[in-house]
Amino acid sequence: MEYCRLSIAEIQDGVRQKQFSCREVVEDHLKRIEIAEPKLQAFVTVAAELALTRASSLDRDLAAGGPLRPLTGVPVAIKDNICTQGIKTTCGSRILQNYIPPYSATVVERLESAGAVIVGKTNCDEFGMGSSTENSAFGPSRNPFALDRVPGGSSGGSAVAVAAYESVGAFGSDTGGSVRTPAAFCGVLGLKPTYGRVSRYGLVAFSSSLDTIGPFARNVEDLAVLLQVIAGHDPLDMTSHRGTPDSYQSGIGASLRGHRIGVPFTLVEQGVEAEILQALRRTTEILKQLGCEIEEIALPHSGSAIDTYYLIAPCEASSNLARYDGVKYGYRTRRFSDLTDMYRRTRAEGFGPEVKRRIMLGTFALSSGYYDAYFLKASKVRTLLIRDFQNAFSQVDSILIPVAPTPAFKIGEKMSDPLAMYLTDIFTVPANLSGIPALSIPAGYSRNGLPLAVQLLGNHFQERRLLNVAYHLRQALAVNPPPLAV
Ligand code: GLN
Repeated sequence: MEYCRLSIAEIQDGVRQKQFSCREVVEDHLKRIEIAEPKLQAFVTVAAELALTRASSLDRDLAAGGPLRPLTGVPVAIKDNICTQGIKTTCGSRILQNYIPPYSATVVERLESAGAVIVGKTNCDEFGMGSSTENSAFGPSRNPFALDRVPGGSSGGSAVAVAAYESVGAFGSDTGGSVRTPAAFCGVLGLKPTYGRVSRYGLVAFSSSLDTIGPFARNVEDLAVLLQVIAGHDPLDMTSHRGTPDSYQSGIGASLRGHRIGVPFTLVEQGVEAEILQALRRTTEILKQLGCEIEEIALPHSGSAIDTYYLIAPCEASSNLARYDGVKYGYRTRRFSDLTDMYRRTRAEGFGPEVKRRIMLGTFALSSGYYDAYFLKASKVRTLLIRDFQNAFSQVDSILIPVAPTPAFKIGEKMSDPLAMYLTDIFTVPANLSGIPALSIPAGYSRNGLPLAVQLLGNHFQERRLLNVAYHLRQALAVNPPPLAV
């Protein structure tokens, strides 16, 4: 039996009926990790010993009559910028390569109290800055459908882990598309929740007004459970929303009749590869058959989303990353003459080129005399984008757009051209800038066997609705995936 192919519900049933133990499920995933990792490099750290000990203790609890929890024995992988007490959390950076957090993120605590087993920490672009996982200090992860291609980023390792059956679910952070892009490139589901729905406590800050934590899964029911476990108010995150989360599983399967879906056709038709556009059109046809009404909408300011994002995110990052100074934690240069020299050398040696580029950009844009022209202006454009969505959602229930303009690109293809890399995010950053939820949904495969995807956006706190639409699409779109490369 291959336990690593099971869904959460199947693991629950099997464990309940004593067909297998949590330990057997975890062992099978660790075996899969051992086989796949030399080629995929989804993980920075595999926590094999901890995972096995934990699985055994879950089995003991069950044997002693303990309750089955929502994720009992379910192996999950956590992006390496989410703090795990006692397990290295590198953020894909040399500056934190030996950092072991003294506490766990709220999402990690919630997962553990729900019975999940953390199998490891996944590779990512340094501090989440990138769209391909190539900006990791530990080398790129690889796309499981084509090893010479990127898995997307920045949470590439998490998407690979789920796509390649190394874990049942995984978690990433999404500041400008970092859950949705890798989900799209690897053929799995990836959700960026509403800002404030999931606690950011213990997520290493990149751009605090945009950062969110979201789950990856291979099916909608699993995704709903993973979201349910991590959603909800957290007094440790002052931007956390106080409202009670919806019941995400119970919304799945409801009829889509009369559901209005907006598509900004004029926007989407520019600069998007033909197969992506075809997948989007195919999806709208299926949605029509399911009873949805498709309407053309306009998002007039979305053309400025990339410029706005690539000002706001680096500005906030330049401030957030000031804490890596060689004093408080992480890497410190060996040789230095005085304090300033120590700071300078530590940061020069500890940060990679993309992080430095962002710190310089952000510092420049925030410096006195430039603030009004850049950060303030970007903040105003952000408000216009938010209004675009408010207008759109007065007309439709959800919005359908691509995730990325192309399927997974080749490793190395965009590394010498930061602007080309940034343009990967053209359809993902608007949701972050406006705080709304967005879901990357697999939508078939390209002629050369690469995953295609569409993105569904909803109004604030409409995750339940997004999951239901995704469920129907998955049912209608059931296609056999091409074989994995490992
Ligand atoms: N690709 C975007 C960036 O480089 C988004 C990253 C993210 O969501 N963490 O900033």
